[in-house]
Amino acid sequence: MKQILWFRRDLRIEDNAILAHAQGEVFPLFIFDQNILEKLDAKDKRVTFIYQSVLNLKKELQKIGLNLAIFYDKPEAVFQRLKEKFDEILCSIDHDNYAKVRDKNIEKIIPLKRFNDAFLIDPQEHLNKSHLPYKVFTPFYNSLFYLWESHKIKTLSPANNLQLHDFNYEHVPSLEAMGLKKQILPEFLEQKAEVLLEKFTSKLTAYQKERDFFSLDASTKLSVHLRFGLLSAKQFFNALRPYQASEAVIRQLFFREFYNYLLYHFPHSQFENQKPLKIKFLNNQEDFKKWCQGETGVPIVDAGMRHLNQTGLMHNRLRMVVSSYLTKNLLIDWRWGEAYFAKKLLDYEASSNIASWQWASSTGSDSVPYFRIFNPYLQSEKFDKEGIFIKSVLTELSQLDPKLFHKENGVQSNLFINYPSQIVSIKMSRLRAIEAFKQAKSKP
Ligand SMILES: Cc1cc2nc3c(=O)[nH]c(=O)nc-3n(C[C@H](O)[C@H](O)[C@H](O)COP(=O)(O)OP(=O)(O)OC[C@H]3O[C@@H](n4cnc5c(N)ncnc54)[C@H](O)[C@@H]3O)c2cc1C
Repeated sequence: MKQILWFRRDLRIEDNAILAHAQGEVFPLFIFDQNILEKLDAKDKRVTFIYQSVLNLKKELQKIGLNLAIFYDKPEAVFQRLKEKFDEILCSIDHDNYAKVRDKNIEKIIPLKRFNDAFLIDPQEHLNKSHLPYKVFTPFYNSLFYLWESHKIKTLSPANNLQLHDFNYEHVPSLEAMGLKKQILPEFLEQKAEVLLEKFTSKLTAYQKERDFFSLDASTKLSVHLRFGLLSAKQFFNALRPYQASEAVIRQLFFREFYNYLLYHFPHSQFENQKPLKIKFLNNQEDFKKWCQGETGVPIVDAGMRHLNQTGLMHNRLRMVVSSYLTKNLLIDWRWGEAYFAKKLLDYEASSNIASWQWASSTGSDSVPYFRIFNPYLQSEKFDKEGIFIKSVLTELSQLDPKLFHKENGVQSNLFINYPSQIVSIKMSRLRAIEAFKQAKSKP
C-alpha cells in the first residue's frame, strides 16, 4: 500500500489519526493552498503561525524516520501529479464548506480516507432519543457524560514500521514566495501547547471566577493550537480531566464540539439564520466601518476591536460584547461580523465563529433570547473596572478616570480628549433592536 498522508489541521505527531492508521510506504505532505492564500491579506498572521508549525512538524517527522513535503499549489494540481504513484490519501475530516467541496474533487483523483481527528466525537454518532441531532447545548453535553467516566480517552501513537516513499520533494517555499510577509505573533504562540497546558493547571481553580475579566489572563489560550491541531481535543481533555476543578474549562471544549456538530448537521447555518427569522437589519456601511476600526465611541467596543486588529486575538467576553453591539445596537447582519472575524482571528474556526455569531444575534437554534442585549458600559464596569484593558489599547485615554469608560458619553465629556462620538445611544438602539426582533418573530 502506498499512501499519501495529507496533513492539514493536524500538525502534530502524537494522537494523530493519519499517522496512527498509516501502513506501508508513506509520503507525508502539506499544501499551502493557493485557493485559500490568494484571498488572504499579505500580512495574515495565521499563515506565519502555520508556516512555523509546518517547519516544526517536518523536523518532528524526520526524528521518526519520515519527512514532510511542502507544496505551494492548488491541491488538485498536486494530486494530479501524484496519482500514478499512490493508492490512497489519508487525511482528517474538515466540515467547513470549502473543505467539503475540495475533498469531493480530490476524491475523484485519488481515493480519500478521512478520520475524525480534530474533535472528540464524531457528529454522526451522537443523536437524541428520536435519532435526530441535538439543537440545544445542555442535553448534548449531558449525552457525553460517558466521556467523564473514564479518566482518559484513548489517544493514538504513530504506526510502527512505516517506510518513507522515495518520491523526493525537498523544496520548501518561503513565505515571501507565497506572497506573504512574516508577522510578529503574540509571544504565547511561540510556546508549545504542552507548556501552555502545564501553566494553565496552576490557574485552573480560579478559571470559573476569573475567566470573564479582560486583563486577568485566566484562560488556557489554546484555541489557536487546537485550531491547527498542534494539540488534539483528546490531549486537552486527558490533561485537564484529572483535576477536580476541570469541569468549567472542559465544558468550553464541549462548546467547541457542539458547534462543530451543529455545522455538520445544519450546514446551511453557515449562510442562513438557523431560526427562520427575517430581521430587517439596517446594514449601514459607515457604522460597520467604524465598528471594524474601533471607532464607535464606546470604549470597551473600540478597545476590543482595535486589539483584534493589532494582534488577531480577542477575549471571549469581549467577543460577546462586540458581537451583541454590532448585531443589536447597530442592527447589522451577523454575517458581516462573522466575515470580519474570519479575516482577523488567529483562532478562526468556521463552526465556532458561525454558531457564536448566531448565538449573539439570537438567530441560532440555541441562542440568547433576543431581548437579552449586552449593555457594553455595564460589561466594562463589571469586567474592566479599573480600565486596565481599555487603557492598554486606547492609550490616548490612559490619563482618564476609568469611571468615565463605564458611562455613556463619559470620555466625550472631557473636552481635551479627541475621541469619536457615539454612533447610537445605547437605550434607543436597544429598544430599536427589540422592536426589529419582535417584528421578525411575528412574521409567519
Ligand atoms: C462572536 C464569537 C466568535 C467566536 N469565534 C471563535 C472562533 O472563530 N474560534 C474559536 O476557537 N473560538 C471562537 N469563539 C469562542 C471563544 O471566544 C474562544 O474559543 C476563546 O476566547 C479562546 O480562548 P481560550 O483558548 O483561552 O479559551 P478557554 O476559555 O481556555 O477555553 C478552552 C477551549 O475551549 C474552546 N472554547 C472556549 N470557549 C468557547 C466557546 N464559547 N465556543 C466554542 N469553543 C470555545 C476553545 O477551543 C478554547 O481553546 C467565539 C466566541 C464568540 C462570542
